[in-house]
Amino acid sequence: MTISVIVPCFNEEEAIPLFYAAMEAIKAELAEDLEYIFINDGSKDQTLPVLRELSQKDPSVTYLSFSRNFGKEAALYAGLRHATGELVTVMDVDLQDPPELLVQMREILLANPDLDCVGTRRTTREGEPPIRSFFANLFYKLINRISQVEMVDGARDFRLMRRPMVDAILEVSEYNRFSKGIFAWVGFKTEYLEYKNVERVAGETSWNFWQLFNYSLEGIVNFSDAPLTLAFLGGVIACLLAFILMGIVIVRTLIFGDPTSGWPSMVSIILFLGGFQLLTIGILGKYIGKIFMETKHRPIYIIKEKSDSR
Ligand code: UDP
Ligand code: MG
Repeated sequence: MTISVIVPCFNEEEAIPLFYAAMEAIKAELAEDLEYIFINDGSKDQTLPVLRELSQKDPSVTYLSFSRNFGKEAALYAGLRHATGELVTVMDVDLQDPPELLVQMREILLANPDLDCVGTRRTTREGEPPIRSFFANLFYKLINRISQVEMVDGARDFRLMRRPMVDAILEVSEYNRFSKGIFAWVGFKTEYLEYKNVERVAGETSWNFWQLFNYSLEGIVNFSDAPLTLAFLGGVIACLLAFILMGIVIVRTLIFGDPTSGWPSMVSIILFLGGFQLLTIGILGKYIGKIFMETKHRPIYIIKEKSDSR
């Protein structure tokens, strides 16, 4: 059996040799053939030359090089499409997905014919800024309430899958890819292996707080229409309140006259409604933006160069 190892790389010249060495070190224990598929996601450093050299040395190393940075999600998709193995794993190159776990994951998978996938879950978020962990927790609480698919808190993309699950993921060819959601959405039986957070071996994370915030918004918009429902419900409540207030104002004017008082309350109401409308339009806009990108039917990634070892 061959295990396809999919590794997205963005500016990872330092990490790639370390990753490769760590994988080769567990190869014997894995007792399977490995097929590496590195994806150079538009790196600006020496990632591509490093991959070229590696694939020349080792025929089991192949690479795809994108024409620009398309993002990790696109890289994962490209890797999955090119994987030929019966088993497929996706791993970060920074060794935050410990290769040693793969041995255990394979054993669990092969011991349970019912199981389609063994995933990994971080039980700690050590070495991460507390504010980041706080928002991450909040995100998982929220998404699991408002979305049909269940996303496991702390679950990484790092997983070992059987072929049928991979084929199912490939069927989900949407442009707006939120892998954590897609892995959950396709179903199949997944068991999670827990481990302690490991820090990046070299290089730097390419995520800042703002990007992570956007990423979680992606997750919500891609896997839930609850915000639309909320906007709708808010609109209904605002309407009802407006009718009641209107009634009160009319009755009060009929009984007491006094047409000019009540200016502050009017301004407050106008401001509130104005703000509320902008908010709901904003929510609508988020979804329309997604539809817009989706209807263009643009390719998810563009390959500029491939290793020719296959
Ligand atoms: N990555 C990528 N494209 C990007 C950003 C990241 O292919 O635009 C890769 C990166 O090289 C690494 C993995 O995705 O192998 C995870 O990235 P990173 O370690 O920066 O994320 P973190 O572990 O901090 O969530
Ligand atoms: Mg990392």
